[in-house]
Amino acid sequence: MTTEFKKVAAIRGMNDVLPDASHAWEAIEEILRQWLKQYGYLNMRSPVLEHTRLFTRGIGEVTDIVEKEMYTFVDSLNGESLTLRPEFTAGLVRATIEHNLLYDRPRRIYSMGPVFRHERPQRGRYRQFHQLDVEALGFAGPDVDAELILMTARLWALLGIDGIELELNSLGQLAERQAHREALIKHLEAHRDVLDEDGQRRLYTNPLRVLDTKNPAMQEMANSAPKLFDFLGDESRAHFDGVCQRLDDAGIRYRLNPRMVRGLDYYNLTVFEWVTDKLGAQATVCGGGRYDDLIALLGGKPAPAVGFAIGMERLLDLWNQCQPAQAPSECEVYLIHQGEAAQRQAARLAEKLRDAGLSVIVHASVTGSANFKAQFKRADASGAQIAVILGEDELASEQASIKWLRAEPSQAQQQRVAFAELAQYLQGQLDKVSGKKV
Ligand code: ATP
Ligand code: MG
Repeated sequence: MTTEFKKVAAIRGMNDVLPDASHAWEAIEEILRQWLKQYGYLNMRSPVLEHTRLFTRGIGEVTDIVEKEMYTFVDSLNGESLTLRPEFTAGLVRATIEHNLLYDRPRRIYSMGPVFRHERPQRGRYRQFHQLDVEALGFAGPDVDAELILMTARLWALLGIDGIELELNSLGQLAERQAHREALIKHLEAHRDVLDEDGQRRLYTNPLRVLDTKNPAMQEMANSAPKLFDFLGDESRAHFDGVCQRLDDAGIRYRLNPRMVRGLDYYNLTVFEWVTDKLGAQATVCGGGRYDDLIALLGGKPAPAVGFAIGMERLLDLWNQCQPAQAPSECEVYLIHQGEAAQRQAARLAEKLRDAGLSVIVHASVTGSANFKAQFKRADASGAQIAVILGEDELASEQASIKWLRAEPSQAQQQRVAFAELAQYLQGQLDKVSGKKV
């Protein structure tokens, strides 16, 4: 006897990717891997769980992520505080230090996978979401900042995504930020009455982050605040100009956004975001910047670094808006059969076809048997190009019947094909419809 079980639903803000949608995920991941390869980036994978203090140190205590978005819990087995990664950079930098990856040369790496933030779920904002994270570790010059930005611009072109704009800023160096900070605190003190709760709390702990507010009531105060950009010294300006020149060389348009500070604490010099108005309230698809102090902050030998992250759900949303939806197909060839002998022959033939590299489904159903009509319906729903039919006649003559379910190649008159030649025949026909050279 089974006891009654209350159905379990997914956790709020954590999505299932169903088979129809996973097609687009796989397609875009494939494009991303090819594109990353073109720029010489190698994959690196780090754990989903890390020690909490990695993130409090690496992201910064006074940030949205650390203050209120992390999934943190105590490991009941040993009392350690652990956190589900809310972003990739801290974990990848930890691994880089731990394995001494930068000992002989700089590295270009990327990682893709789920990250976790406890936010209010809405379109483009989830509690488990996915990022593609790209990091150039050990490079100091504006050439690499520009290369990363060029790279993202190429991606939009590859995916046919338009209506996306580049915003750029420079956060300078620590001393410049400190000089600006003093001026900014004076400004915030003078406008104390419009500061919301976060703003009040961060006034002295992280005044720069007060400007990164989405609160409409604070926009005017933020717009009139002293701009960090005006506090930059010659070196910082030269770095910024170096980035801009290279973007100009490549014909990439950008807008200086002196208020962009990015959500994480560790950035310096170049920061950038790609924004769009095609995603409702969520504007940013990709954000990144330079973080020359992070490696040392996490205990490594000082080394400069620059990187970006793309929100995969937002990227897919954009991509789906810019290209016609493609129904995924389960297989190329669907095998239909009648009777037990034909079913067994179908299974043997299917293995032969798979030996030849074809993707094949042999009809199967709850009852184990179905009439031809029901089987054809399933064959059609599978998205297969071709149905192969095995009935009594076919078994007796050792020839399979062929039926095209979709566009037929011009010289495909042949209706019966000997079992022994089936794999070669189907392979040739499918190459023709897919436009491959045979
Ligand atoms: P936002 O201002 O939208 O909260 P962020 O500055 O917190 O973004 P980053 O930490 O820079 O975002 O993360 C990189 C990218 O990951 C973002 O540009 C966005 O595309 C995506 N992203 C961030 N948070 C979420 C989320 N909760 N759900 C889905 N995608 C997200
Ligand atoms: Mg955020």
